[in-house]
Amino acid sequence: MPFLRGHHLICLNFFKGEGYSKEFVEALFSVLSSEKFTISEGFDDVCKACPGWQGLQKGCSTYGEDYIRRIDSLALSLLKFKPGDKVSWNEVRERLKSTIGNWKKEVCSDCEWVRVCSESQEWREWK
Ligand code: SF4
Repeated sequence: MPFLRGHHLICLNFFKGEGYSKEFVEALFSVLSSEKFTISEGFDDVCKACPGWQGLQKGCSTYGEDYIRRIDSLALSLLKFKPGDKVSWNEVRERLKSTIGNWKKEVCSDCEWVRVCSESQEWREWK
């Protein structure tokens, strides 16, 4: 069962095959095909395949680990999950449908991937 950190619970719902490298994209498809996963605090199976990951000391070089941890916490508080929970994509989507509004305002508005995600019907329709 893969591990996923907070913000990946939200962002992966809108993944369409674009990413930082071939290995990274394959890891995302693999995580999405898993029925259930465990919520992690920090490092997860997506970070493991990301070219921006600098190891446990430094974390994410793309956005900075402090920022990523802040949005992990925001994602978990919006979805009402906590590290260690074992959840399915269906459970995440059911909660996300009615809570994504704050996320779009706080996080998507400054994100380099918003063009891709906003092409998704769910991203546009979910409130
Ligand atoms: S626009 Fe960025 S923050 Fe928003 S869901 Fe997509 S990847 Fe995540």
